[in-house]
Amino acid sequence: MKKIVLDEEDIPKYWYNIQADLSDPLDPPLNPQTMEPIKPDDLKAIFPMGLIQQEVSRERYIPIPEEIREIYRIWRPTPLYRAERLEKALKTPAKIYFKWEGVSPPGSHKPNSAVAQAYYNMKEGIERLVTETGAGQWGSALAFGTNLFDMKSRIYMVKCSYEQKPYRRVLMESWGAEVYPSPTELTEVGRKIRAEDSDTSGSLGIAISEAVEDAATHDDTNYALGSVLNYVVLHQTVIGQEMKKQFELIDDYPDIIIGCVGGGSNFAGASFPFLHDKITGKKPDLRVISVEPLACPTLTKGRYRYDFGDTAGLTPLLKMYTLGHSFIPAAIHAGGLRYHGDSPLLSKLTKDGYMEAVAYHQREVFEAALLFAKTEGFVVAPETAHAVKATIDFARMCKEEKTIVFANSGHGYFDLSAYDAYHKGTIQDYEYPDELIDKAMRDLSDIPE
Ligand SMILES: *Cc1c(COP(=O)(O)O)cnc(C)c1O
Repeated sequence: MKKIVLDEEDIPKYWYNIQADLSDPLDPPLNPQTMEPIKPDDLKAIFPMGLIQQEVSRERYIPIPEEIREIYRIWRPTPLYRAERLEKALKTPAKIYFKWEGVSPPGSHKPNSAVAQAYYNMKEGIERLVTETGAGQWGSALAFGTNLFDMKSRIYMVKCSYEQKPYRRVLMESWGAEVYPSPTELTEVGRKIRAEDSDTSGSLGIAISEAVEDAATHDDTNYALGSVLNYVVLHQTVIGQEMKKQFELIDDYPDIIIGCVGGGSNFAGASFPFLHDKITGKKPDLRVISVEPLACPTLTKGRYRYDFGDTAGLTPLLKMYTLGHSFIPAAIHAGGLRYHGDSPLLSKLTKDGYMEAVAYHQREVFEAALLFAKTEGFVVAPETAHAVKATIDFARMCKEEKTIVFANSGHGYFDLSAYDAYHKGTIQDYEYPDELIDKAMRDLSDIPE
């Protein structure tokens, strides 16, 4: 069978919360003023209670409101494909599958959470959401989600992406969003950073600082975050739950699950429902592998410790793998994988040995994506291309039949300039230097580990 499809009734009715299955709980987020654990009330200025409760919940299953499932029906359930032509090209005994999230209107997994976030904010009377975006995937997902609930949105888009990717901006504007290149003159943080460095290319950390400030200074406005937080990961578990059902239909189960990690949401969403079986001992030898760029090697070279989520140090401190919040990434094209931190849940499961991580150079990643495009037809996002590269590597290493599945997080049709750069030979490999990580860690010396 080429693709395994489900019915609309198979759209999950619950999100799966892996916090229920951790043997010891997550280290709590800290208030940076007091270094004490954050209280839910501290977050009320920028988040709705519905999401704050999900952030700290230890219930295993959280019901998905029918209004959200109704919108999920536009593109869910998403297909699970068998990549037989790729298998043949690799001459591998492995069976390769991928779960295709590129069928959503914005083209990635991100609306799974954007729609949910818009819904809970709308329910609590919020009229406007603000956020940051790197490559433009999250911004377009939030513009899509807010539009469906008649809300306004403003997107702070990392300046180098704003310049490289005008069509993502047009897409966001088509769904009614206001989009600005960050850093802007609209916030105090933005003005300060521009005063220090007038031609900065921006970063996700800076754009987050601007959006958080905007939300904190407007009553009708909340902040939306596209990855990292527990509730974002929670919303994305619709991916993995559908996958489990799809593998049941073909009487198979993955030996290896692979996904790219920026903040961790698509891969956590795809893998956590399976990790449940590893944690509970049902599938102890399951391998779960995160893939990241060597230019932003958070899991492979970063430290597991408390750090801020943004550059300016406005957010709570999160215990996670981090390269340091002062990280300014090289302008590699996988914009969505350029964040200095990672989901605390994914970080902890990596630290505790349930998940592994690998990192690759840019050129080999594009080479893999092109083999995938030529065999399977889909041109994937540069972020997703990292997962493709690892899948190909693991399939090549297989000496016997194994089932490998990767989370195919989105299409690359707004990223064709990156493919063009690869064809022209102008994409450069870059490895983030250890000295810069050590330096960033020294800046964290006042913060508890
Ligand atoms: C944003 C994005 C990512 C990275 O974000 P995660 O939170 O790690 O999933 C990966 N793939 C695509 C297509 C994206 O848009």
